[in-house]
Amino acid sequence: MPVKIKMKRVSAYFLMCICVLVFMLTVSCSRDDYQVRTEERGPLASLAEGNTRFHTTQPRRPSDNISIVRKMSAGQHPNAVIICCSDSRVSPELVFDQGLGDLFVIRTAGNVIGPIEIGSVEYAVEHLDVKLVVVMGHERCGAIQAYLDSTELTGYIKHIVDSIAGETEIQNLRMHRSENTDMYVKANVIHGIRQLVVHSDIIRERLGESQLHITGAVYSMVDGKVAFIK
Ligand SMILES: [Zn+2]
Repeated sequence: MPVKIKMKRVSAYFLMCICVLVFMLTVSCSRDDYQVRTEERGPLASLAEGNTRFHTTQPRRPSDNISIVRKMSAGQHPNAVIICCSDSRVSPELVFDQGLGDLFVIRTAGNVIGPIEIGSVEYAVEHLDVKLVVVMGHERCGAIQAYLDSTELTGYIKHIVDSIAGETEIQNLRMHRSENTDMYVKANVIHGIRQLVVHSDIIRERLGESQLHITGAVYSMVDGKVAFIK
């Protein structure tokens, strides 16, 4: 075979390889780009980075369009469970700059955790294979403040404050006459974590196998920063 023809074939083959490689890279970057990178960095780092984007006003707002809705109709694969307060100013997807399908969110006033909430976490851990649970309180929480002010409440709202009043961590602070509201918020978060670990065999098992990480966090109403509790 003449050398010129052989060279041409080699060049064509080389060019084709480059094209395939570029195509593959393009596809892999556009397809679930955010999710792929989350897996590489770990879900906690992804949340921390998302919160940084949020409080520095550089949100990416990933996976928030109708094409994602259709794509996700087949199933969900969230990266983390977030248990937080129902307060309208504490929206996890916004605060962590996450998109549809990224977070499995459980919200109650005062992020109070009972059997239904624990069951929801178990579902996410066991059936969706989520490996991170964040219990997040927030500054200036109305539920905590209602407890501290001994506000007279009627109806089912009373159950929320009674639940907070019954928490050992909260009672310890009261016993020491602490007046630091932020300390109560943190105590409530730590109690929430303890609830999950004490009451759920599934959660304890996953923790024992190092298949799950649980962390606490407090959201600042002033600057939008989330401080993770070590
Ligand atoms: Zn609250």
